[in-house]
Amino acid sequence: TGSLCQVLSDNKKQYSCKLKGKTRLLDLDFTNPITVGDVVEFTFDIQNNIGVIERIYDRKNYIIRKSVNLSHKSQVIASNIDLALLIVTIKNPVTSLNFIDRFLIQAEAYGIESKLIFNKIDLYDKKTREKKLKYQKIYEDIGYQTISTSIYNPDKTLEIKQLLKNKATVLTGHSGVGKSSLINIIDNKLKLKTKNISNYHNQGVHTTTYTEMFPLDFGGYIIDTPGIKGLGLIDIDMHLLAGYFPEMTYYSDNCRFKNCMHIKEPDCAVLDAVKNKLIAESRYKSYLSMLEENTNYRRNNYN
Ligand code: GDP
Ligand code: ZN
Repeated sequence: TGSLCQVLSDNKKQYSCKLKGKTRLLDLDFTNPITVGDVVEFTFDIQNNIGVIERIYDRKNYIIRKSVNLSHKSQVIASNIDLALLIVTIKNPVTSLNFIDRFLIQAEAYGIESKLIFNKIDLYDKKTREKKLKYQKIYEDIGYQTISTSIYNPDKTLEIKQLLKNKATVLTGHSGVGKSSLINIIDNKLKLKTKNISNYHNQGVHTTTYTEMFPLDFGGYIIDTPGIKGLGLIDIDMHLLAGYFPEMTYYSDNCRFKNCMHIKEPDCAVLDAVKNKLIAESRYKSYLSMLEENTNYRRNNYN
């Protein structure tokens, strides 16, 4: 925040640091030269109690959003993310397949491993359970791990804890799916700090929300990205979009045209696969909807 960064050193102490002048200009495409999750080298002036960041290491990945004022520039929200988890609920609130698909496509495009967590399973009746199984099958068939959990099931929350251990994780999902409840159970010291995670719907009130990274007491970090829907926006080249659908990638080698968009081209292996139910119809619909609203999708992808 401001001109000072909080740097966590290898000895687990926190240091206030300034950015070295030259470092500030490193990347002109971004409005902010440094972000949550960056790995840095710094020197520390003990007398003045201030550090200087000398070097920012290359990022293995990062998520961005468009800056509100400078239309051509982006803001880097967080970097070096090991895992993106989407908390899904079938009911109260409803998470749509389209929403899940957009999250997964964002994660693919950003190069971040992603998994789905189905929460509130204690509330499920027969119908909801069947729907959940249907959803799980769609995503497990194409290689995404899904985990079912409830804040009232200690075995399941332990599983989530194992998942988060020693990783930097972005936890996202609609308001009310149980993000803060899960975090509180996993590490109750985080209780207060993450209270704004459940306040996405109050966005209008909090105009100065910023991303933060919270260390977990058993190792690892939770990255809180208030105001960001899913993983934030990303400019996806629509010709590459199908490549972020693992099942479309699997079939598209057999399309007649190398640059097939899988819309109405002849001898399209993807369309055949959809017709033969080898690709889930909902996934293909999400693909088409992302193509269609391309421009809007990029502009309106945060609350
Ligand atoms: P957030 O907005 O994603 O942070 O959601 P919260 O953690 O604030 O949870 C919203 C509501 O759902 C709260 O009333 C929680 O007690 C409830 N809740 C969260 N997880 C579960 C769960 O696994 N089962 C049930 N029955 N309720 C849950
Ligand atoms: Zn095709």
